[in-house]
Amino acid sequence: MSRRTKRGAVAWRGLGVSDGIVIGRVLRVQNGARQVYRATLGEDEVERETRRLRAAVRLSRRQLLAIKARAEKELGADQAYIFDAHLLMLEDRKLLDEIENFIRQERANAEWAVKVVADSLLAVYSKIKDEYLRERGSDIEDVMQRLLVALSGGERSHAHLLSEDAVIVAENLLPSAMAELDFERARAIATDAGGWTSHTAIIARGLGIPAVVGLRELHRHARTGDLIIVDATQGQVILHPTAATVEKYKATAARASRARAAAAEQERAPLFTADDKEICLRANVELPAEYEGVKKFGARGIGLYRSEFLLSSRGTIPSEDEQCRAYQRLAELTRGDGATVRLFDLGGDKIGGGANDAEQNPALGLRAIRFSLKNEDVLRTQARAIHRAAAHGRLDVVLPMISDLRDVRRAKRIIEEERARLEKEGIKTGSVRIGAMIEVPSAVLLADRIAREVDFFSLGTNDLVQYTLAVDRGNDDVADWFRSLHPSVLQSIRRTLEAAEAAQIPAVVCGEMAGTPAYAVMLIGLGATELSMTSSSIPRVRRAVAEIRYSDAREIALRCLDSDTADDVEELVRNEFSARWPRLFTPETLPAYKHKK
Ligand code: PEP
Ligand code: MG
Repeated sequence: MSRRTKRGAVAWRGLGVSDGIVIGRVLRVQNGARQVYRATLGEDEVERETRRLRAAVRLSRRQLLAIKARAEKELGADQAYIFDAHLLMLEDRKLLDEIENFIRQERANAEWAVKVVADSLLAVYSKIKDEYLRERGSDIEDVMQRLLVALSGGERSHAHLLSEDAVIVAENLLPSAMAELDFERARAIATDAGGWTSHTAIIARGLGIPAVVGLRELHRHARTGDLIIVDATQGQVILHPTAATVEKYKATAARASRARAAAAEQERAPLFTADDKEICLRANVELPAEYEGVKKFGARGIGLYRSEFLLSSRGTIPSEDEQCRAYQRLAELTRGDGATVRLFDLGGDKIGGGANDAEQNPALGLRAIRFSLKNEDVLRTQARAIHRAAAHGRLDVVLPMISDLRDVRRAKRIIEEERARLEKEGIKTGSVRIGAMIEVPSAVLLADRIAREVDFFSLGTNDLVQYTLAVDRGNDDVADWFRSLHPSVLQSIRRTLEAAEAAQIPAVVCGEMAGTPAYAVMLIGLGATELSMTSSSIPRVRRAVAEIRYSDAREIALRCLDSDTADDVEELVRNEFSARWPRLFTPETLPAYKHKK
């Protein structure tokens, strides 16, 4: 999407996936997509063609091993794991047999066979509902492009082209193309494709390089050497900016970098509102690429670890040892602050949801704790892995989508049984607290009783809004009905926090609301003292918390609780927030809440 501004400058809107502002020069990167044609081989040429394919696979493997080694050195093992998936594909006998069979049966050239087989795999991936898994289709594309280049005996490298201020502009930056780039020099990334969970986004966040994705047609319009501004904070890219715009952005970038430096100094310090109420900010984590951010942004441990992201792209559940290693890493990373591991939240719109096509109402189906209770062996394995890992640091476990105390009791019993069994086996365990996610209306209504049987609450506002308002959180057609500030949602949050307080257990709010400053202020007004969010949101929430008075936030929140509609609440928030905290909020930045999930 573009908007032409004066004197030839063109502004493009996208999704900022890694914060920051950069003014630089375009380096246009092609993914090396090749045109592939079909050739029909003579009977006697077929074997030679399969040998050509095998040679290309060997060459690609060598290239990938080199890229992986480089990525490990420059990015750390956390990021280099992406290339394991590519290597696995090149070692997948079944896949390679399929390509060879195609060559033999169709008497087709290797390029064509690679393309046909990869395209059919890609078609399967494009139908997957889960965004994270669907994005993994880019791995197939990447391996296919590498094989095609290898078949023509070529190399793919952009590294030598990078200037000091290079802004990488690509249609879709495939992971291995990224790893071939010179990270010392790449200043920012702007791509036509991609979403929050694309590899481009994950790697950019991991590296701390500003990135805007989803720019649609920027690549076609940009030329290498063009002046460009990437403003990932606003999700905007400006091509051919005017001198005045460049000056404006230089000033903004300098301010932001000063603010970041100041924030970095204070990041570990305890956080208080202006009237001295202590607020604790923790991190939500899905992937190892985010670990760096937990430290960098000063999170007080991990408030929500979405363990279902440990599943392989094929959907297989990791073994007890694999899980134990992953959880142990969390415990070590977060030291005394600890990490809360959520039991696999599978099914529904989540990972694995696509596999459950038989369900008519997946969000109301065999999801989260229900999945674990129905697949007891999965729950037992996960519980053992968590208990074992807890011997190395503080770990808690939280039960997702609790709708009934019976689920809490059954899960607790199984988790405890596994601890006792480990003890009997002489295996070291640590003490693990068990909490409940409150994200379903029935759990809100019975929050006082649930609070008596768990060690803490975790409030999942994403699902709480979905289930309270009966609005599918993933359906754009009903996005206007997804109102985080609906009075019923606010009342549910308040009720849950009160129940926790009465039972003297902690409650952490970990839905997306917690990471949005205005919502965070509202949550604090409703009584929240612990918020968990994507680490990169911590600095801006921190700034908001330090500026506000809890007593003001509380007064506004109480009035909101009494409102009739979400519109009334939003208006109240717009007026009150911008009047009381003009340095934090303006009416223009406040009203667009309803689309936040
Ligand atoms: C939530 O529902 O708010 C939550 C934190 O978990 P998820 O988004 O993974 O469902
Ligand atoms: Mg949830």
